[in-house]
Amino acid sequence: MEELSRSVSELKQTFNTGRTRDVEWRKAQLKGIIKLLDENELQIFQALERDLGKHPVEAYRDEIGVIKKSARFTLSSIDKWVAPTKKQVPLLFYPSKGVVMPEPLGIVLIFSSWNFPFTLSLDPLIGAVSAGNTVVLKPSELAAECSAFLSKTIPLYLDCKAIKIIEGGVEVAEKLLQQKWDKIFYTGNARVARIVMSAASKHLTPVTLELGGKCPAIFGSLSDGDMKVAIKRIASGKWGPCSGQACVGIDYILVEHQHASKLIDLLKKTIKKFYGENMGSLKNLCKIVNKHHFNRLHNLLEDPAVAASIVYGGSLDEQNLFIEPTILLDPPVDAVIMVEEIFGPFLPIITLDDIHESIEFINSREKPLTIYAFTKDESFKKQILAETSSGSVTFNDTFVLNACDNLPFGGVGESGFGRYHGKYSFDTFSHEKAVLERTFYFELEGRHPPWNDFKLQF
Ligand code: NAD
Repeated sequence: MEELSRSVSELKQTFNTGRTRDVEWRKAQLKGIIKLLDENELQIFQALERDLGKHPVEAYRDEIGVIKKSARFTLSSIDKWVAPTKKQVPLLFYPSKGVVMPEPLGIVLIFSSWNFPFTLSLDPLIGAVSAGNTVVLKPSELAAECSAFLSKTIPLYLDCKAIKIIEGGVEVAEKLLQQKWDKIFYTGNARVARIVMSAASKHLTPVTLELGGKCPAIFGSLSDGDMKVAIKRIASGKWGPCSGQACVGIDYILVEHQHASKLIDLLKKTIKKFYGENMGSLKNLCKIVNKHHFNRLHNLLEDPAVAASIVYGGSLDEQNLFIEPTILLDPPVDAVIMVEEIFGPFLPIITLDDIHESIEFINSREKPLTIYAFTKDESFKKQILAETSSGSVTFNDTFVLNACDNLPFGGVGESGFGRYHGKYSFDTFSHEKAVLERTFYFELEGRHPPWNDFKLQF
């Protein structure tokens, strides 16, 4: 605890020197992140392979590549973002000048999760340093190799008096939460988010909560050609990023009865092509992060009604923590698999009489982080946008929105609040200070007492 308090006061001292406010300091940190990724690609691949069995192509796409892109985008935009923005002021106060000026919040705490251990650590870090803050980053203990790598390597590339990596599990997290922060940025599950929020309330610390939930995919009526593309995107979007252990992974699909068998048939063929025929030949898939999550997923299939709904896959390899891509057709909608976030390679398909019923189905549950909808029906698209609520909506693809620097990423309701990526990250870690400057030239006497009936006329 004493060591933590020392680290926090060192960060406070650094912040008070004003050095992190300097735009050149911010740029140097962003360049440091890019350099770190450039010079340590192999070690990053190895750490991700050991923690999650992540293939280097997937690791590059979802972690190294996406972070380099984000850091470069921030570098090229930061001069514009730090500049005060002029605002119109009412004529009544003429002559005067109004601006909004972003200022750093101070000392921020970032908790990241294990499924994208680099992206979920470094992307918030990019936001925090670009806004001029000092930072404590606590990577997830569940991706231990990645956490150790970040802790060892970040001080070699970034200002270690302003950015500290503190490793550890729940005990360390709890101690960190006892400190006073100017901002807490948390990525993880909703149960711990509640702990974070109540700790933050003690000091009225603002929080951003990046959580998860059950992201549905609505599968409408498509031509054969469009369906082929959609199936590839679904198969790589469901099992591609971290074997379904992704907050934006498709949790379940909603489809009309008449299209279900074709959908399943094409999915099966695509799974075999992308990931292999059976348990023994699986490739390009991450492992389940640990025994606890493996058992959690195993238990979902223990329900006999759920087991009976498996139409593809269902094999589990406990020794290597692998689970086959698995499709389930109409498991009971009140089974745990349809109530809690799956966060794994199971894909329930729920059939409906009419695809428009999907809206009621989604609205009967917590607000999801993302809704995916595969459809070319413009009026249905409008209806989905108008009648559902979610962090984001993607039509006709899966997780690519995350890589769009100009679109905000974040949840709503049970899937979290606050947003980041690109300028939204800068804003999340800044305070927008309103500044009004007046002159002494004119004075409207009507604004000052004594009050009288004449003044009331104005
Ligand atoms: P996790 O176990 O790695 O926990 C996340 C962080 O919380 C870690 O740093 C961990 O040390 C800390 N933590 C755990 N227990 C704590 C406690 N009692 N007090 C304080 N801190 C504590 O990750 P997880 O929660 O298993 O991650 C999975 C969840 O996160 C899923 O719900 C998923 O949807 C969500 N998620 C969301 C995003 C997003 O960007 N929205 C990204 C990844 C994961």
